[in-house]
Amino acid sequence: MTRLLNNPDNFPVESAEGFLLANKRHVRGLYGGAVRATKTPEGKVALVIGGGTGHYPAFAGWVGHGMADGVVMGNIFSSPSAAQAVSVAKAAERGGGVLIAFGNYAGDVLHFGDAAAQLSAQGIPARAVVTTDDIASASPEEKEKRRGIAGWVPVFKVTGAAAERGMDLDDVERVFHKANDRTRTLGVAFSGCTLPGDTEPLFTVPEGKMAIGLGVHGEPGIAEVDFGTADEVAKVLVERLLDERPDGADNRVIALLNGLGTAKYEEMFVTFRAIHKLLEEAGLEIVDGEVGEFATSLDMSGVSLTLHWPDDELLELWNDPVDTPTLRRGTVDPGDLRDDIHTLSQDPTRITVTEEGSAESRALAEKIADTLDRVAAMLREKMSELGKLDSYAGDGDHGTGMQRGSENAAVAARKLLGDGAGAGTLLAGAGEAWSATAGGTSGALWGVILGAAGQGIGDADVPSAEKVAGIVDDVSTTLQQVGGAEEGDKTMLDALLPFSRALKDLISGGGSLSENWNKAATVAAGAAQQTADLSPKIGRARPLAEKSVGHADPGAVSLAYVLATIGDDL
Ligand code: ADP
Ligand code: MG
Repeated sequence: MTRLLNNPDNFPVESAEGFLLANKRHVRGLYGGAVRATKTPEGKVALVIGGGTGHYPAFAGWVGHGMADGVVMGNIFSSPSAAQAVSVAKAAERGGGVLIAFGNYAGDVLHFGDAAAQLSAQGIPARAVVTTDDIASASPEEKEKRRGIAGWVPVFKVTGAAAERGMDLDDVERVFHKANDRTRTLGVAFSGCTLPGDTEPLFTVPEGKMAIGLGVHGEPGIAEVDFGTADEVAKVLVERLLDERPDGADNRVIALLNGLGTAKYEEMFVTFRAIHKLLEEAGLEIVDGEVGEFATSLDMSGVSLTLHWPDDELLELWNDPVDTPTLRRGTVDPGDLRDDIHTLSQDPTRITVTEEGSAESRALAEKIADTLDRVAAMLREKMSELGKLDSYAGDGDHGTGMQRGSENAAVAARKLLGDGAGAGTLLAGAGEAWSATAGGTSGALWGVILGAAGQGIGDADVPSAEKVAGIVDDVSTTLQQVGGAEEGDKTMLDALLPFSRALKDLISGGGSLSENWNKAATVAAGAAQQTADLSPKIGRARPLAEKSVGHADPGAVSLAYVLATIGDDL
């Protein structure tokens, strides 16, 4: 639904006025639409584009250097008149003639055809040409009857570049037809669009289904199929488009994923990822991609995929600079792009084994890796409890953060163990993975804890009980330095510091490490519960401090759980 409007009758005009005011660098308004704000050279062919309103950035968003010279702006989903087109064309033309390009809809064909005839009769050479990229709108045998949709982008872009380079009207028209012949689009819609002022959509798509090949004005699709994952949607689009590879095309494609109105950029990127993979698997080289809104249909939910198959000439024209309200391209030379970095690494650890640990230390590392597995399993069980504790005054993510962090830490530890890591390197790598994946304050701090512990333990010896107590003390100090909290601020330190003190005392009194660790862990558990009386002085819970009183600090509770799990393992 369109929510921001005044009188619905005035919507297209008010929208056009706002567009002009927002884009003074690029456009100047006049009767019927707009022309470039910049002067164009004498003798240049003028590319005039246009159609109904409701499809922005189509069409007004493409007026500017390197693309269109003028735009004719119609009413919502309906064609502008011939008189409007003549007005825009006359303001845009510079003696080289006019190419009026649009999307092959009956109203546009009549009005723009009439405008071209009127201009020619007045001595201004003018031709009306249509894009026909929508493969769902007619069979391959009747290609010329197809509608134009988001294929506008590559076709208008290269045609505009041809005109900008100074080609004459015949040549610009030749480029237009070649580009159009090499462009194919297919769309899918998940729900319909509603005209401004209306409350009911123009059409609906049944729950759990998607309509294939729907037009940008709500023209019916060719099929309704089950709505699947982003990968499945990508597959439908790619497979059907590859069935219609244009004659003469080589292995290069430009892929453009267009949001029809309410698709989010992030979901389109998820879909584009799959599209890219499928195209590569089909043996194609994706020379360029565009993801965004190009040809929308008010608030329609859905996407369309356009494949443009350039030859050398079209690719050069595609890469030419362009400067319009929505499509901009500077002077980056695609030949200069670096090709040594391709994908996001999914491995959260940067730490690698540069030197194998001693045999002793590797044996200890193996035990630590086992313990990390158990810590991860334990935190998975405690996930909802910890999340709940964090929800009274925090944001409720402590359980999921701890679970994710510990699981990734355990995985990283296994890998480092396989590479011959000693205990210190293993802990450092595990800490790095924890902090990289857990998110939240506690994730960063657990990274610090494991990193400091790793540094204390090193890769050579197995520490004595006294040394362990010293390391725990150092870890506490580091944590205080990094986090800036003090005892009593209601954080994990309120469990860690009592633990550290108890461990030191117990160990100085003799007895085994495991016995003393477990006793100290009980102290930590008690201290963690006692944080319920405290009011948070730091962290996300501070602004809602009073809501936290009566509930234990999530970070302190989880730390006590981890200490207990380690104790069980010692
Ligand atoms: P976030 O607060 O960013 O959502 P979590 O919910 O995962 O992160 O962790 C919250 C816990 O982090 C708190 O319960 C507290 O124990 C701990 N914490 C927050 N700030 C600090 C700090 N500066 N020093 C030590 N621990 C802290
Ligand atoms: Mg939180």
